[in-house]
Amino acid sequence: MADIVSKQVRSRMMSGIGGKNTKPEIALRKALFAKGVRYRLHDRGLPGRPDIVLQKWNVVIFVHGCFWHRHSGCKYTTTPSTRPEFWQAKFDGNVERDTRNMKRLITAGWRVAIVWECEIKASLSEVSEKLVEWIGDETGEADQRFGFQNHELGV
Ligand SMILES: [Zn+2]
Repeated sequence: MADIVSKQVRSRMMSGIGGKNTKPEIALRKALFAKGVRYRLHDRGLPGRPDIVLQKWNVVIFVHGCFWHRHSGCKYTTTPSTRPEFWQAKFDGNVERDTRNMKRLITAGWRVAIVWECEIKASLSEVSEKLVEWIGDETGEADQRFGFQNHELGV
């Protein structure tokens, strides 16, 4: 069994986009649940397999690790000094994929929030409060109001 687990962990690391059910993700889920928000998890049928899906509100939430998803200006967004080209290509691929998934979701009528792990670590209660406010604020104009840049909470 131990070998299987380590294989999974290794393949997760190699896939380059961090994991599901990370500590910050679980913390955010708990905070939302405590505020009465009900959700589904990791919907495989949706682009990017969003971490949290709020069908009722037409909302999907991604909890992004700062390193893998390149949180701009963040102290965790470092680049390893060995094989910089390799890492840069990997990071570029992640960011492109995130952007593509985001556009597809918005086109399909979803409102999309990105929450960075560092924000959850720094101020979970503030982040979850803002998020709940945003969730309840339906406008129907997801693509205009919630463009990629605009809904990185806390930025
Ligand atoms: Zn960050």
